[in-house]
Amino acid sequence: MSVETITTIIFFSWAGFMMLLERLYPYTKGMRFFRDGWWLDFIWYSVIQSYFLKILIFDYIIAPTKTYFGLENAGILSHWPIWALVLLFLFSHDFYIYWFHRLQHENKMIWRLHEAHHSVTEVDWLAGSRSHILEIIINQTIEFAPIILLLDNHTAAIVVPIKALIDAVWGMWIHSNIDAHTGKLQYVINGPEMHQWHHSNHQEVFFCNYSTKFAFWDWIFGTAFLPGLKPFKYQFLKPQKFGLPYDYPREYFAQNVFAFYRFDVKKFESIPLVRLYINWKEPIIKPFKKDKETMSGPSPNPQATE
Ligand SMILES: [Zn+2]
Ligand SMILES: [Zn+2]
Repeated sequence: MSVETITTIIFFSWAGFMMLLERLYPYTKGMRFFRDGWWLDFIWYSVIQSYFLKILIFDYIIAPTKTYFGLENAGILSHWPIWALVLLFLFSHDFYIYWFHRLQHENKMIWRLHEAHHSVTEVDWLAGSRSHILEIIINQTIEFAPIILLLDNHTAAIVVPIKALIDAVWGMWIHSNIDAHTGKLQYVINGPEMHQWHHSNHQEVFFCNYSTKFAFWDWIFGTAFLPGLKPFKYQFLKPQKFGLPYDYPREYFAQNVFAFYRFDVKKFESIPLVRLYINWKEPIIKPFKKDKETMSGPSPNPQATE
């Protein structure tokens, strides 16, 4: 079996595992499987955008760069064992992504490439896939170019799918709506406990929890926020609201344009055709909503823990 086949099997098994745990131990209780924006994230971001960006990044950016520098048969780091290469690229890229992510939150212009990711109002295993097209091009080029440029094609063909699998698995984990309690592991390994907070619409957390895989960057560089773990005290143990504190388009192309051109979201979404497109799934979702209301009655807020 090829590395790609094995990583693909693990990828789908992990996605299934996340979905199952979300049903059994939900972090935010009562979240529907087809939550708000699920189809957008699945069809547009996970399938269509991923497919085209993979071709663009690997075939039209990284491959020509390798040819330009005459590195096809070089493989400067190819003599390293695979596990050491995976660790090296995992660690170095994670350090980079912490700082780039932090810059995105601190710089108003670059924030516009990241706000799409924060527009998810119900965060689940699929939510991490929502990222602006340019954000993915920048981050994945920086992530995969060193692997392909420093390794010969055969070794790169092993390391790339392993690295991509780790990204996908970890991405699903940190965004998952799973009520994990990993205790002191939260100082080392990032998970939903800290990343769900990162997606919350609480001002106190707007500049916290930038880590992706290793949580220790946040603890080392003083940007960690996790009520329930020392030294944090906060009125809530879980976020009360998620997403952006301002209007943001709900449609794929509008989201990508919004980074460069601000427009009146409410006005745009009141155009009959746009409204029809955005609300096409309403007839499917409404009956579920009704069921939930009649079953549990109007509950004030199940998440208020303190
Ligand atoms: Zn962020
Ligand atoms: Zn995220």
